[in-house]
Amino acid sequence: MTLQLFNTMSRQKEVFTPLAPPSVSLYTCGLTVYDYAHIGNLRAFIFEDVLRRVFVANGYTVKHVQNITDVGHLTDDGDSGEDKMEKGAAREGKTAWDIAKFFTAAFREDAAALHIVLPALMPKATEHIPEQIALIEQLEKKDFTYRIDDGIYFDTSKLTDYGKLAQLDIAGLQEGARVEKNVQKKNATDFALWKFSPAGVRRDMEWNSPWGVGFPGWHIECSAMAMKYLGETIDVHAGGVDHIAVHHTNEIAQSEAVTGKPFARVWMHGEFLLVDGQKMSKSKQNFYRVTDIIEHGFDPLAYRYLLLGAHYRSKLNFTWAALKGAQQAYDKLITLCAGWEEGGSVLEEFRVQFLAALNDDLNTPQALAVLWEMVKSSAEPADKKTTLLAMDELLGLSLFSKAEALRTHLAELGGKMEVLIREREEARAEKNYERADALRAEILHMGIQVEDSAEGPILKLARA
Ligand code: AMP
Ligand code: ZN
Repeated sequence: MTLQLFNTMSRQKEVFTPLAPPSVSLYTCGLTVYDYAHIGNLRAFIFEDVLRRVFVANGYTVKHVQNITDVGHLTDDGDSGEDKMEKGAAREGKTAWDIAKFFTAAFREDAAALHIVLPALMPKATEHIPEQIALIEQLEKKDFTYRIDDGIYFDTSKLTDYGKLAQLDIAGLQEGARVEKNVQKKNATDFALWKFSPAGVRRDMEWNSPWGVGFPGWHIECSAMAMKYLGETIDVHAGGVDHIAVHHTNEIAQSEAVTGKPFARVWMHGEFLLVDGQKMSKSKQNFYRVTDIIEHGFDPLAYRYLLLGAHYRSKLNFTWAALKGAQQAYDKLITLCAGWEEGGSVLEEFRVQFLAALNDDLNTPQALAVLWEMVKSSAEPADKKTTLLAMDELLGLSLFSKAEALRTHLAELGGKMEVLIREREEARAEKNYERADALRAEILHMGIQVEDSAEGPILKLARA
């Protein structure tokens, strides 16, 4: 079966073949650890996690690297504004080093709650300063750099294809850049490779370099670390759509200026999570965290289910009502799965359709449609269970362990729960809602939350 992926560079779906099969090199731009990840950031990482699972399902071994940005990312994504890390440190009354450590650990927890498998290799920008300096030196030798008061910059006019990823209108950008904040820059699109520490200011994070004390620009870290760990040309480079115009464009410029080779063969970008039609972002203060989802009584994996219902290249507007719907669908799968026996065989026809959907540029909504068709089919429950669990290898919804927990709890209750559920169904059929509610309370007392659906009651372990 062929795997097709949409390549931002060519603006079309392409049949995917790695440079050195069966290995796939995957570089994903990681979190800037100056604050907690919000669920919008986590949408990007879930998309990448599904991508990785799809590679594995196609028989590839994935060499995945995701960086941790712990220095150099400025508040405006350009080269002015404050360093997000230093700003975060001031906000928390700690050092930039302390907050990097703290928010990296918090990110790992959030990722675990969402069943995102993080790569073993998560290099930090601050631990790769010599590599970044070496890359800037190579650029300097090739005459791509120039020095101005606040740092060493990349001269984008020296590349004929600068901006190809975003199809940037360079002439238009120059024209529109009359109010450029940095008047010394030669071109509006030029970007910092190395920034000098401001005179008289002692930053938490600064290093000596051949050009003076300072810190690396944001983009150079990804070029340096991707090339160090994955080679000069990587198979797939991914991130959120906000990276297309600046960050990935500049990663390409500096990497290809040094190597003369394509930096990545496929560029993939996940769309935004919105709130009230606006991008969820820390700067807009319109964000939710994983802990907010939990505090609202939802399972983080219901959020994962919600995301899978939208294609990664479509914007998704987050609402609590939509999350509620996702939670119900998710709980229904667990209830069904808990009630089905094991030991069946995979329903091949559904498995093939399911993988075909994911192989079509990760069409997760279509894959979920196939999943539900299978679940509702008249096939043997044991076969359905085996098929569902095989599908979940790609979705990462933890269905097996959730269903096992529910099954074990129900088994511990012996036949009591079954009797109560049946009595409640009878009460509902007689429209005796008072009795049905009393039974719901009794059931809850035994650690099970019950909800009604067209296909019968949905059972769920109540939270302690
Ligand atoms: P940052 O920490 O800002 O570098 O962002 C980490 C990742 O989250 C990047 O891949 C961003 O593109 C992505 N991202 C940021 N905001 C959103 C959002 N609202 N929806 C989806 N992805 C986002
Ligand atoms: Zn990057």
